Amino acid sequence: MFGKRIGVDLGTANVLIYVRGRGIVIREPSVVAVAQRDNTIVAVGGEAREMLGRAPGAIAVIRPMRDGVIADYLTTEAMLRYFIGKVVGRFNIIKPEVMVCTPAGVTSVEQRAVRDAAEAAGARRPAQLVPEPLAAAIGARIPVGSPRGHMVVDIGGGRTEAAVISMYGIVVSESVRVAGDRLDEAIAVYVKRRHNLLIGDRTAEEVKIDVGSALPVEEELTTDVRGRDQISGLPKNITVTSQEITQAIQDPLASILGAIRAVLERTPPELASDVMDRGIVLSGGSALLRNLDRLISQEIGIPCSVVENPMECVAVGAGIALEHLDLIRRAQPPEGDFLAGY
Ligand code: ADP
Ligand code: MG
Repeated sequence: MFGKRIGVDLGTANVLIYVRGRGIVIREPSVVAVAQRDNTIVAVGGEAREMLGRAPGAIAVIRPMRDGVIADYLTTEAMLRYFIGKVVGRFNIIKPEVMVCTPAGVTSVEQRAVRDAAEAAGARRPAQLVPEPLAAAIGARIPVGSPRGHMVVDIGGGRTEAAVISMYGIVVSESVRVAGDRLDEAIAVYVKRRHNLLIGDRTAEEVKIDVGSALPVEEELTTDVRGRDQISGLPKNITVTSQEITQAIQDPLASILGAIRAVLERTPPELASDVMDRGIVLSGGSALLRNLDRLISQEIGIPCSVVENPMECVAVGAGIALEHLDLIRRAQPPEGDFLAGY
């Protein structure tokens, strides 16, 4: 009997797990609820997310990943153990082969923390790591093994990573800690300033998904927002339009465009010309923001499109990457920790 082969997208917003032959089997928010009293886990994933902003003080609701890296090691390990356990089954003694993606721009200490957490959570040693933009490209079935430049921009919750990839290696990459969470924050700040209404992160995110757009939309969308009036202190409802949200999110969008420009500026000419021909592809949940692909095409001057499965491609790609370990390994810089065997 063989062990399972699984790909893990350990994201700031969501954890996804892909199992070879079965597809995506876990898709849960990266949230854990912990009882302060004895540090026991109360809930993990979607159930814990429901408690965000609603739990009594004795229960801490934690997002253990921040900006694409581990912010709370023990909670991340517990979360991974729970999800990997669900996939593998509690009575299975064969440990799974695990590939976890981490942002391309993280330090080797941060990489090691992810590997350690995966191994402590039940992965067979050594747990493998793959740079996230490479996993996204593999999961999107982009032929990254060819000696051609491919540009992928992954825009998740905490981080945007833009990279040019060739022959399974990352040639140039840029990473900014601006992505979906910053869009939500910008919306909350706008609603407070313009409407004197205090709203929580989740409400801001809902507004973004309901009516948010990177460029003005042809037909104005509106949504009702409930929050607390800053002056009276009482609950209040207002209506916001997509036009307002477009305006509210301009600054974080400019940072995302900045990362893309910075990569292109450093890309060698042959590869840059490949990217001009093939276009830029977007992955990650924030790639779903209305008209973000159009904004990028317009501002950068290179065609841009969203991959078919933007939220899943990283986990799928991490799983598939386990089949190409040697090809990927030879393309990684020797000083890093990606795919380092023991
Ligand atoms: P991470 O890799 O950081 O866990 P994901 O790739 O799972 O992040 O993406 C999560 C982000 O995508 C969140 O900020 C979420 O608000 C955003 N998102 C999800 N769906 C949409 C949508 N339809 N429009 C805009 N943003 C979205
Ligand atoms: Mg991600």
